[in-house]
Amino acid sequence: MLRQALLWASTNPPLAERLPRYGFVKRATRRFMPGEKLEDALGAAAELGTSGITTTLTQLGEHLRSEAEADEVLQHYRVLLAAIGEQGVDAEVSVKPTQLGLDFGAPATRERIASLARSTRSTVWIDMESSKYVDATLDIFRSLRGEVDNVGVCLQSYLRRSEADLEKLLPLDPSIRVVKGAYQELASVAFARKSDVDRSFVRIASRLLRARAQGGKGRPVIATHDPRMIAEAGRMAIELGLAKGTYEFSLLFGIARAEQQRLERNGHRVRVLISYGSAWFPWYMRRLAERPANLWFVAKQIVG
Ligand SMILES: Cc1cc2nc3c(=O)[nH]c(=O)nc-3n(C[C@H](O)[C@H](O)[C@H](O)COP(=O)(O)OP(=O)(O)OC[C@H]3O[C@@H](n4cnc5c(N)ncnc54)[C@H](O)[C@@H]3O)c2cc1C
Repeated sequence: MLRQALLWASTNPPLAERLPRYGFVKRATRRFMPGEKLEDALGAAAELGTSGITTTLTQLGEHLRSEAEADEVLQHYRVLLAAIGEQGVDAEVSVKPTQLGLDFGAPATRERIASLARSTRSTVWIDMESSKYVDATLDIFRSLRGEVDNVGVCLQSYLRRSEADLEKLLPLDPSIRVVKGAYQELASVAFARKSDVDRSFVRIASRLLRARAQGGKGRPVIATHDPRMIAEAGRMAIELGLAKGTYEFSLLFGIARAEQQRLERNGHRVRVLISYGSAWFPWYMRRLAERPANLWFVAKQIVG
């Protein structure tokens, strides 16, 4: 119930407009994001870098009102990539197709992502948004793979279609980040039971790791905080004889920090995804929905 309510709130424009104005709401986000500005994200990336943890940066923001805003987002990522290069931080970027204009047309979105990929040697990751965008997002990814090597895409294990999508993508030797999925979806497209989502996650992770063990160059990224998923992926990698540096674990900034450090200490590649920006409300509601216990943290900020 609570999860549904939080996911509903994440898609409610009046709430997104009003709540972020309150200081206590802003303070409550600090656990999950270092700040709203690009410099905040870069500072956090540099700090994590000192303990051997690399990062992926993403500017928050969802639906655009005009296509001109997509060009502004593109410009922002150009500036970010340049700053990453100048500061020598080991950071990549991850972009949302809708932020780069997907609602206004796929070809221009593809071009924007292509131009970002051409401007850097690091991987440009493509987030996966709600299920209605999956076909267009995967088409863009496939088309980009024909042109550049340094793009990766996310697959969500809660979607019934993702395993089949993966099979179709594997001939491209893709870099894929597997996640469970963060949006509210109908049972016709997504598994409703956590156990089914988890099983699907393990199967997708296993397929990615096997592709790597068979000589693939694409990067398998296991993006989860779930200790059971992390342990299972680690076990499968050992069984396949994969060296630790050939696959990665990725977690969100501020979540399971001890696990991030434990993985790094054990010689794993760890990449933390840092979100920043002013349009954090829908994203923050989805983080709360993942773990309603986080509401206690929010309550403490209100009282404190
Ligand atoms: C690097 C990265 C990239 C992502 N990219 C996308 C994307 O492109 N598209 C998309 O739909 N989703 C994305 N997600 C979000 C993802 O889909 C899940 O919603 C999120 O990772 C929570 O699922 P989980 O795998 O941690 O497992 P869960 O089963 O949700 O959680 C397992 C355990 O992890 C801990 N945990 C999980 N979430 C939280 C939280 N918010 N606060 C505190 N503890 C928590 C809890 O201990 C929980 O018991 C991404 C996640 C990561 C880590």
